[in-house]
Amino acid sequence: MALPGYWHNVCTLTTKTESMPKVLYIKKHPFGKNFLAITLTEFILTVAPLNNYDLNHEMIHVKQQRELLYLPFFIWYGIEWLILYFKYRDWTKAYFHIRFEKEAYQHQGDLSYLKRRRHYNYL
Ligand SMILES: [Zn+2]
Repeated sequence: MALPGYWHNVCTLTTKTESMPKVLYIKKHPFGKNFLAITLTEFILTVAPLNNYDLNHEMIHVKQQRELLYLPFFIWYGIEWLILYFKYRDWTKAYFHIRFEKEAYQHQGDLSYLKRRRHYNYL
């Protein structure tokens, strides 16, 4: 587990003045084996080492959660997932249509995205 490397990777994704979340290894993802990592407030929990794109994805969620002051993010996320499930009748398909995931998947490949991202960009 190369944690110092992780810190370096996370730090290059965003501005230097911002505080960094902690990356922690867990044995099992709460949503099952198709999921790699989950971001809960200032913690990124992961079952395996994350590459730069995965980290960028999770860092986008960190930003989303910070700007919604954490709890409202999870309420919004959960309600939207449920509504989309009733629309698509498929949890995975619904997941990929959650606005927070759409922003994260759309921009995870752009490693400078977080440096110029506008607040509430998922709206
Ligand atoms: Zn995500």
